[in-house]
Amino acid sequence: MSALKSSNLGYPRIGANREWKKALEAFWAGKLSEEAFTKELETIRLQHLKKQQDKGIDLIPVNDFSWYDHMLDTAVMFGLVPERFGYEGGVVPLKTYYAMARGNQGATACEMTKWFNTNYHYIVPELDGAEPVLTENRPLTAYREAKEKLGIEGKPVLVGLFTFLKLSKGYDTDALDEVIQYFLPLYTQILKELEQEGVKWVQIDEPILVTSLTQEDVARVEAIYSALREAAPGIQIMLQTYFESVEHYAQIVALPVHGIGIDFVHGGEQNLNAIQTLGFPKDKVLGAGIVDGRNIWRTDIEASLELLTKLAEVVPYERIIVQPSSSLLHVPVTTEPEVALNPVLKNALAYADEKLDEIALIVRAVNEGKEAVAAEIKSATSAIEVLNSSKERSRTDVQQAAAQAHEQPASRTSSFDVRKGAQQARWNLPFLPTTTIGSFPQTVEVRQARQKWRKGEWDSEQYDAFVRDEIKTWMDLQEDIGIDVLVHGEFERTDMVEFFGEKLDGFAFTKNGWVQSYGSRCVKPPVIYGDVAFVEAMTVKESVYAQSLTSKPVKGMLTGPITILNWSFVRNDLSREQVAYQIALALREEVEALEQAGIEMIQVDEPAIREGLPLKEDQKQPYLDWSVFAFRLSTSTVKDTTQIHTHMCYCEFHDMIDSIRDLDADVISIETSRSHGELIFSFEESTYNKGIGLGVYDIHSPRVPEVEEMVSMIERALRVLDPELFWINPDCGLKTRGKEETVASLRRMVEAAQQVRKAS
Ligand code: GLN
Ligand code: ZN
Repeated sequence: MSALKSSNLGYPRIGANREWKKALEAFWAGKLSEEAFTKELETIRLQHLKKQQDKGIDLIPVNDFSWYDHMLDTAVMFGLVPERFGYEGGVVPLKTYYAMARGNQGATACEMTKWFNTNYHYIVPELDGAEPVLTENRPLTAYREAKEKLGIEGKPVLVGLFTFLKLSKGYDTDALDEVIQYFLPLYTQILKELEQEGVKWVQIDEPILVTSLTQEDVARVEAIYSALREAAPGIQIMLQTYFESVEHYAQIVALPVHGIGIDFVHGGEQNLNAIQTLGFPKDKVLGAGIVDGRNIWRTDIEASLELLTKLAEVVPYERIIVQPSSSLLHVPVTTEPEVALNPVLKNALAYADEKLDEIALIVRAVNEGKEAVAAEIKSATSAIEVLNSSKERSRTDVQQAAAQAHEQPASRTSSFDVRKGAQQARWNLPFLPTTTIGSFPQTVEVRQARQKWRKGEWDSEQYDAFVRDEIKTWMDLQEDIGIDVLVHGEFERTDMVEFFGEKLDGFAFTKNGWVQSYGSRCVKPPVIYGDVAFVEAMTVKESVYAQSLTSKPVKGMLTGPITILNWSFVRNDLSREQVAYQIALALREEVEALEQAGIEMIQVDEPAIREGLPLKEDQKQPYLDWSVFAFRLSTSTVKDTTQIHTHMCYCEFHDMIDSIRDLDADVISIETSRSHGELIFSFEESTYNKGIGLGVYDIHSPRVPEVEEMVSMIERALRVLDPELFWINPDCGLKTRGKEETVASLRRMVEAAQQVRKAS
């Protein structure tokens, strides 16, 4: 027997205690020599391999480890270092590598962007005419290390050529065929060397194959893999896809490779359907991604076994490898330290290590028979059942309200034009009103105060008093600067999602649920595990206090439902849409509480709306539609005179302006530092007809902008946008900036507004 095999596609780099992150940062800070750093990373890497070995995983990935990011690793392996970093050939030194990632005195960092629909960000390779060379065979080095040090027959992982090029910039896409020809020999060489070394399996990641590709693209992929097969016929390529269903299924599974890895969790239904209706080649191995690599929940083992049975009707077990749906990079390391969590929740969690155990369990259940592992299967099933029937997931009032969301009010009483008049009369704001996005500098003192309070060194009264002092200071400053619409400054918030999650029902906060976001930066998303419900007012106290200090309007400040959803780990027993509606309805209560307390300008931030955008074209609009609907659920029950603001950043907007308009916010502020001109143009084209503030200065740098720059930005915007609807504000929140530079920048911003007002 022993037919079915197990595999992993990638292991988290950060370490159970974020040792990897700490090592990187210590090295950057000069606290760790290059030698000590290299040694430390080796220790971490080997520990991770050993763990997978101990868990009995048959195919253990190597070269999935990184010094920062796997796309950057691939770029430097090919010597793709932009000129500004002064690289002179050969193996790229660590110093240069990190300069590309983080920038240095003389050169700005390479661009960073989201890896498909995840919250992981990769460094975008810049080709710019450089002739790629193979500076080192990293997969080979990794393979040798695992073999020599641990006796592991590793499976080297490589970013596939087509995905690599599609995600790179700095070349004419019309010349793609030529570019492929430059890189093909390098991939060939890597594979030949691996073949010579006796490597059995290599995993080549081509997640781009789940996005829409033209027939020409498919032909390119065919040409690439034919060439690779011919060059290294002795090596078995597992062509790995993930995050969605495979496009052009019939052609992709026919590629000249030994195995095809398919995600049966995300896009699983379509993938299963494709296999069942179109079959699977008799000569290939199926990498069956059946344990979710993107979420933190335990796997329903019975359901996985059922799925496997279906797959086995098409592909016999001896040609199936059980694996996670994607690399485990996107989940935390181990649930072991989560002892403080509600045991019902903890029991239902599976991070990377537990997911590998699940894979091993599934394999045993097939190879040894279900009876051999009956107890383990039972405990997995019951953990999920216990959570599902817990009181936290049984709030029928909440569930029903969300299920009937479409019967709830989701439109303002009056049209924007009517509201505009009413609001103008109510607020009497000057032409080109000035405001900010919400947060003011979170200084060391602010963070220390919160620490003291969390540790119990300060009681709530002391902490509240501190926050009030900060609010007072900044209210006075805003008055003095002459800003028109004031904010309280968000000093009481660490993070725009956590703050609300801690106050709403249905959320949990883990101790160790860290995942890599970019480079050494990790995030610990809240866990939405129960029905989400409003408990008591969350922001009213601070806003009302701020309003008591001024006769100018104070804007209340909330995080929107979709941003809360997209920055959390979300329960998987309900659709994301339903969870979004639950959050939206809870936030509606906060909006109403603010209005009742006299806060009649309310900003509901949605910076992360785009992050949830599905990869598949036909799923994008439905997602945007229910996201917009959720926002409207939160914001539609207020009076005409109450002004709803929203804010967006970190993304491209030009292709979603219709959805932005549908939010029906009275005012939107948008980050524009990257492409002010283009953005204005897209808003003009769409004849956007509601209040809009396109950030007039970039808050990502400590630089204090010149008045003239901002004046010309404003003038440019006013040439195309309705001046009556234009607002003046920075790009984004100011929490990462210093106090002095912030005050100086805002003074100049107000001055710029005044100059333009005078001139018109
Ligand atoms: N109101 C938030 C702030 O100013 C918005 C943050 C964001 O857009 N990411 O910090
Ligand atoms: Zn922002």
